[in-house]
Amino acid sequence: MKNSARFGFRRLGWLLLLSSCATSATRQVETTLAENLVSADQENQIGLQLKTDLEQNQKVVYMTDPIVVNYVRGVADKVITFGKKDRPDVSWQVFVIDGTTVNAFATPGGYLYVYRGLLDLAANEAELAGVMAHETGHVVGRHAARSMVDAYGLDAVVKLAVGGNPGLVTQLTTGIATKGVLLHHTRADETEADEYGARYASAAGYDPHALMTLFESLKRTEGNTPALMTYLSDHPATQDRIDHLNAFITAQGLGGTNLGADAYHQMRAHLATLPPSPSATGAPAAGAAPPAAPAKPAANAPPVL
Ligand SMILES: [Zn+2]
Repeated sequence: MKNSARFGFRRLGWLLLLSSCATSATRQVETTLAENLVSADQENQIGLQLKTDLEQNQKVVYMTDPIVVNYVRGVADKVITFGKKDRPDVSWQVFVIDGTTVNAFATPGGYLYVYRGLLDLAANEAELAGVMAHETGHVVGRHAARSMVDAYGLDAVVKLAVGGNPGLVTQLTTGIATKGVLLHHTRADETEADEYGARYASAAGYDPHALMTLFESLKRTEGNTPALMTYLSDHPATQDRIDHLNAFITAQGLGGTNLGADAYHQMRAHLATLPPSPSATGAPAAGAAPPAAPAKPAANAPPVL
């Protein structure tokens, strides 16, 4: 353990030195930092605790209809296949939350969540694939670990890394669940996840522009749905974001033409026959705590996508 601690601190020193040298290298340093400080096992432990919190405290209800769930998991698996090449140490799991909120999010450990409301908004399978690929990108990019460094400071995360405080994972996770820290990404992380999303969706044969058309739909819906405005004001699907994605797809020469419109419409027709979501927001029944991915304007609320 001592050797591991010494190794960890020595490496950290180098990383800190590096980080002060070049702004352009900062993101790479952050990634390396996250990679070295938070292990895959710890990520999984955090993801599992957050999932338990969603279920027990936030009373999140999952869709269980096999046609819908298997369809979503099938689409997600196609893009996750390419995420696995970048993060073979992650075990991926996909859940559909039965709520009308238009959102999706990922937690460490490869847990991807998508709301039924997003299935209602998306126009085709490629848009759903783009969203799942974007969320996969958050996990591949270790964005949650970066957020932990931001939120709790290097000292706490280093203690976690060297095993100096066994209770720290629980402590951090409790804070994370309460504050939504891990789900609050920076604009730079969103941009990176958009790029991962376009690459993975394209590699799976989908039209990588579909994430952009979904953003356009989000923008159009903004005026009609107050809950959406909340999300968009946090990490808006701005024209800048759309333009960047478009330029990235062109620069990388990303192909892919599959929209999967027919299959998607079939799933949607089936979805329409199911009982409505238990609540307007996917939030728990009266009296329970708000969900971790709530339609709330709090600064800690996870951003859309
Ligand atoms: Zn995102």
